[in-house]
Amino acid sequence: MTDIDIIPESEEMQAYSDQLRADGKTIAFVPTMGYLHEGHLSLLREGRKRADSLVLSIFVNPTQFGPNEDLDAYPQDMDRDLELARKEGVDTVFTPIKESLYGREYQTYVSLEKLPMHLCGKSRPEHFRGVATIVTKLFNIVKPHIAIFGEKDFQQLAVIRQMTKDLNFDINIVGWPTIREPDGLAMSSRNTYLTPEQRPSALSLYKALQNAEKLVKTGEKNAEKIITITKESILSNPGTNIDYVEINDPETLDTVTSIKGPVLMALAVKVGKTRLIDNMVLKP
Ligand code: AMP
Repeated sequence: MTDIDIIPESEEMQAYSDQLRADGKTIAFVPTMGYLHEGHLSLLREGRKRADSLVLSIFVNPTQFGPNEDLDAYPQDMDRDLELARKEGVDTVFTPIKESLYGREYQTYVSLEKLPMHLCGKSRPEHFRGVATIVTKLFNIVKPHIAIFGEKDFQQLAVIRQMTKDLNFDINIVGWPTIREPDGLAMSSRNTYLTPEQRPSALSLYKALQNAEKLVKTGEKNAEKIITITKESILSNPGTNIDYVEINDPETLDTVTSIKGPVLMALAVKVGKTRLIDNMVLKP
């Protein structure tokens, strides 16, 4: 196992990336908020294959959390993360502190006009502004050729693809499929908040998506009908509170009423206090 560089300072990270580029090396980048799980590791493995140098960032970005969200409770274990990163052959871990990325006079944000109006953006109005801003900053610091993001956060991936195009970032954005627990629950750092009793309720998201997939495959075209069935099946589990269940166009995220081609079914459900999201592209 080779050792990894841990770089907390933005200027040092920039200098390091400049040197790699000057040496003709390509850089793959996986941004995360840490507390790594198999989902993150699958992104790292893909990055490892696609470039000479693999950079992971670990930063719990305050600007993407709302005032009553779990910023202070967000799980962290830097030692474990670094051990996992080492095993995956990560070359460099960028670990900035909040004060260095958002100084006292910080005032610049990146926001998109349309994509954040849908899905999670409705109940988390500042979230995608925070995501687009931190990813822009990280792109300018890490200077990657390729960056890998999970489809688990489908809307986030759409926002980043759009932003990359709109702002002419010369970076190849790669979307990577959702990694699940053996029972089907989408892996998430937030799953650690779930109690054993809440686990079956958490699993109801994936089960409902699978059922919707079956309905669409067998010819159901009425999105509203599928949404109603999905909501009923989720709400039949204790402690569930639906934020949204939607069927949307996978590119624009606009609502779809009649299913004619592939559609995105996206869910956000609170199980107790834990907000879970999941999605699936359904194909008739
Ligand atoms: P996070 O640390 O939650 O901000 O996630 C960092 C990256 O890992 C994002 O691109 C996520 O979409 C991705 N990711 C999170 N969970 C999964 C998962 N279960 N499967 C694949 N990618 C994931």
